[in-house]
Amino acid sequence: MHHKAISIQNLHVSYYGDEAVRDVSLAVEPGNLVGIIGPNGAGKSTFLKAMLGLIPRDKGDVEILGKPVKEVRKQIAYVPQRNDIDWDFPITVRDAVLLGTYPRLKLFRRPGKKERQWAMECLRRVGMEEFSHRQIGELSGGQQQRVFLARALAQQAEVFFLDEPFVGVDVSSEETIVKILKELCWQGKTVIVVHHDLSKANDYFHQLILLNKELIGFGAVSDVFQTDIIAKAYQGQFAFMKEMGV
Ligand code: ADP
Ligand code: MG
Repeated sequence: MHHKAISIQNLHVSYYGDEAVRDVSLAVEPGNLVGIIGPNGAGKSTFLKAMLGLIPRDKGDVEILGKPVKEVRKQIAYVPQRNDIDWDFPITVRDAVLLGTYPRLKLFRRPGKKERQWAMECLRRVGMEEFSHRQIGELSGGQQQRVFLARALAQQAEVFFLDEPFVGVDVSSEETIVKILKELCWQGKTVIVVHHDLSKANDYFHQLILLNKELIGFGAVSDVFQTDIIAKAYQGQFAFMKEMGV
């Protein structure tokens, strides 16, 4: 049966009466790499968290893989914004990735040899296998982000959500992450990435969700990447737009 990877209807979210996301409706087909773009405070993280059911929504329906989110949790991997993660939490790289295997374990089972090997394979894919015994707090920004991507890979999800994965990340980590995200899409997985600026949007994404509280634009990158549409989202940040080559 064909279903959308993500389907959202009339989503509204607010904090203490202040609207952060207003009336967003859209649907994403499987296999797409989608960027959520918009200025700081545009509601990008809020939108992502509301889609995932991590914060309450005022109104609206969200389906992932044709079902309510709570029925497909195992199929959803989420990499939060770096500053939403407690990096002092005493856990090694390997154990952090091993946590990704938990949703697929049978009830009351602990990860065994098979899961440990799989975790190492995921670490290898992001180029972090040598760091498996490090504490996560002892890594650079790019290394931390690669470890969290490895954890998402370990989960074998169908839909991946990443919030600002390139912030505080070195160029080579960024390239590794983008390459893996593209590979996931080739395998038919759906990847949604919050990205606060427009740089590289064209190289990285198939589709863009341009958000500034409301949905300003949605579609193929070439359709959304138009001066008038971008200007509407970035309201007057024209110097910045020039820099981005719009
Ligand atoms: P973005 O990720 O695009 O930078 P956010 O979703 O973090 O934007 O924030 C959208 C708006 O909601 C901002 O005005 C922000 O201050 C507000 N906001 C975000 N999180 C909270 C919260 N936990 N409580 C109250 N207001 C919040
Ligand atoms: Mg954010």
